[in-house]
Amino acid sequence: MNAFDVVVIGAGNGGLTAAAKLAQKGLNVLLLERHNVPGGCATSFCRGRFEFEVALHQLSGLGTAEKPGLLRMELEQLGVLQDLEFVEISDLYHVAASDGFRITLKTDRAETIAVLQDKFPHQKDAIQRYFDLMARYANDMISTFIFRDPEASRDKYPCLYKYALQNSKAILDEFFSDPLLKTILSLYSGYLGVPPTRLAFAYLAMLFFQYMEFKPYHLKGGSQALSNAILNKFLSDGGTARFNCGAKKIIVDKGQINAVVTDDDDEITTNYIVSNVSPVATYNHLIDPAQVPAATSVEIKGRNLSTSAFTLFIGFDCEPDQLDITETTNFLISTTDISDGIRDRMNRPDIQDDFMLLSCYDISDPEFSPPGTCQANVVTLKYGEPWLRIPPRRYHDVKFRCAESMLKRVEEIYPRVRDHIEEIEVATPLTHMRSLGHPFGAIYGYETLTKDSLFFQPGRYSPIQGLFFAGGWTGDQGFEPTLRSGISAAKSIIRRLGAE
Ligand SMILES: Cc1cc2nc3c(=O)[nH]c(=O)nc-3n(C[C@H](O)[C@H](O)[C@H](O)COP(=O)(O)OP(=O)(O)OC[C@H]3O[C@@H](n4cnc5c(N)ncnc54)[C@H](O)[C@@H]3O)c2cc1C
Repeated sequence: MNAFDVVVIGAGNGGLTAAAKLAQKGLNVLLLERHNVPGGCATSFCRGRFEFEVALHQLSGLGTAEKPGLLRMELEQLGVLQDLEFVEISDLYHVAASDGFRITLKTDRAETIAVLQDKFPHQKDAIQRYFDLMARYANDMISTFIFRDPEASRDKYPCLYKYALQNSKAILDEFFSDPLLKTILSLYSGYLGVPPTRLAFAYLAMLFFQYMEFKPYHLKGGSQALSNAILNKFLSDGGTARFNCGAKKIIVDKGQINAVVTDDDDEITTNYIVSNVSPVATYNHLIDPAQVPAATSVEIKGRNLSTSAFTLFIGFDCEPDQLDITETTNFLISTTDISDGIRDRMNRPDIQDDFMLLSCYDISDPEFSPPGTCQANVVTLKYGEPWLRIPPRRYHDVKFRCAESMLKRVEEIYPRVRDHIEEIEVATPLTHMRSLGHPFGAIYGYETLTKDSLFFQPGRYSPIQGLFFAGGWTGDQGFEPTLRSGISAAKSIIRRLGAE
């Protein structure tokens, strides 16, 4: 059959949920994925006896059955919740500095405030005021952005209007004088891939609020289990999926989607496409440039690409306690510079005093790795562009050197790790570029600078009739936003089809 109601291009989070929602509503849907497994970033790979998680560190928006977050409600409506087993992570994060300083922030708000006040007694009042501000701010955001209060105004939501567009570092500077405390409270900016100097406070406040209110989670089987569950639901609702088969061309006729040509040169007729691929690739490579409105071409050129990542995946032949790893989520820091110096560090391949995130899933889920072993995913943010400038003959040397520097930084905090390595794999920005097909290996789509933040996002629509976007490129990045984006794109198409 060569005609479908909708073709979804890409089986990342957004593509999968879009496809599943459309099939659940009885539409005839084809899902095309260039890779051989579903998930995009939300995937895993095997080395030896380990299955390594690629991307998911802390899932947001889930909550509990009694107090559900938006993501839980949507996964339930999609009919996949019962196929998943979630594991709550009890800490927000642990911070380990090279000079020996340690602190663990728990998901319980009062506990976190108390532990911070204990370590930074000279900032006691400011800590309380800052957490009060984040709570107030988050409540304003929920009223205006989720419940869309039609009477929203500066007078009604003074906190939102005052702080929304300020950068996170400016707010931290307003409240605190201690550089270490500011650094500790800025670390979630890494989850958006943007230094605190350029990240709208809205994101930092909402991340803290989300994780304290609805708690961070991981999954039994990792993010691949989630991707598989959504794919299975799609297939059981009658959807068709083709793997190892990307979209090569989108055919547009008089401003309307007409067909898709696959990598196998199969031409599929359709009037609706959900692209889970970047707008850069969709408009520049898949669609004939003559069919792309000039304003759209200008808009995609005017935005910055996000950072990529450099990651070590390490399988250890021992339990975490033998390595002194006690928390699931650990930020390793060796500087308190949270200025634009972070951006400079992200812009060179070498790893020196970069912030790093080490996740050891076995702490919250002792069955995550085979018995008697554990694994760590150590990641730091790096732009792809400097990696592309490395001559191919030097690539492996640079990759090895960076992996070695990263391992040395990990050893400063956990001195026994090297003796227990059983498997190790390294991913550079070029790995992400190859596996995801994203320009410069950008793992967070467009950079979430204040000017491109949630207040100004282009949305899921395209001026080309029948073309919709799902995923991190046209909204916020991260698991929760991208999973929900696919459902929202699907609902838009369902509404259009209903209207027709
Ligand atoms: C190292 C790393 C760590 C991360 N950590 C976290 C975290 O802790 N918490 C969090 O919330 N988020 C995290 N993220 C971000 C999160 O994983 C992403 O925001 C999210 O998974 C992106 O989903 P997406 O829908 O945009 O699709 P993507 O994952 O970008 O997938 C796009 C898919 O499209 C396919 N494709 C591309 N071109 C074509 C084509 N022409 N035809 C067919 N298929 C095509 C690709 O193969 C891919 O499968 C991390 C990401 C990475 C890489």
